[in-house]
Amino acid sequence: MLANYHTHTSRCNHAVGEDRAYVESAIWGGMKVLGFSDHCPWLYPDGYVSATRMTPAQVDGYFTSLLRLKQEYASDITIYIGFESEYSPELLPAQEALLKDYPVDYQILGQHFIRPEPEGFYTGMPVHDEALLDAYISSLIEGMETGRYLYVAHPDLMGFTGSQAIYDKHYKRLCRYLKEHDIPVEINLLGVFEHRHYTNPHFLSLAAGIGCKAIIGCDAHQPERLCNPVAEKQCRRLAADAGLELIDYLPGFDSE
Ligand SMILES: [Zn+2]
Ligand SMILES: [Zn+2]
Repeated sequence: MLANYHTHTSRCNHAVGEDRAYVESAIWGGMKVLGFSDHCPWLYPDGYVSATRMTPAQVDGYFTSLLRLKQEYASDITIYIGFESEYSPELLPAQEALLKDYPVDYQILGQHFIRPEPEGFYTGMPVHDEALLDAYISSLIEGMETGRYLYVAHPDLMGFTGSQAIYDKHYKRLCRYLKEHDIPVEINLLGVFEHRHYTNPHFLSLAAGIGCKAIIGCDAHQPERLCNPVAEKQCRRLAADAGLELIDYLPGFDSE
């Protein structure tokens, strides 16, 4: 892999390893671009603290550490510093205020919750209700419409236990939107390698049918995942089987 824009750090409490180990693993694997996109903090009302993302107080250390590594390894790899975030419109002003003085290179949209976490449910659970699938897909499109996010992380995160026709109707709506805006679908290496329900081969065949392209996102929560030829091969095979063209770099962001 030449580039990966989906990388976590131990600040989110469910990733391990030093920041430096992620950088060195990516270089070892031959990457030219490494984007950090740890789970973005939110300022929740009522003082709720999420167990699965960095706290607002950790943002400063995130940038200090990664900016130092970016400089130190500049001749080996290009490092970008960003976030993976949900789209929660009512909480955005506070998040923007929190981040406004930091050099945020980019964000990716990982819609783990439709409503903010304290009142929402994890969208990675299978649902049977079409209204929930509809709400999930609509929130992705609405989020992407803001122009805040470069791409959608694990777009097929929400599984659906209802009919294939309903699944296809909603996921095709998303794929058409992504195709129109030249945004690739992510093949999520974490999900593939750990045999999760995403990345779903059927979702990829829908994306291919609509003419989307794809990009591999490591979703690394361990440094070794940035240099895992076996998992990478599985992802490339999925793309090939679906007839999807894989791209290395994000269009319009960097194109080395
Ligand atoms: Zn995570
Ligand atoms: Zn992620």
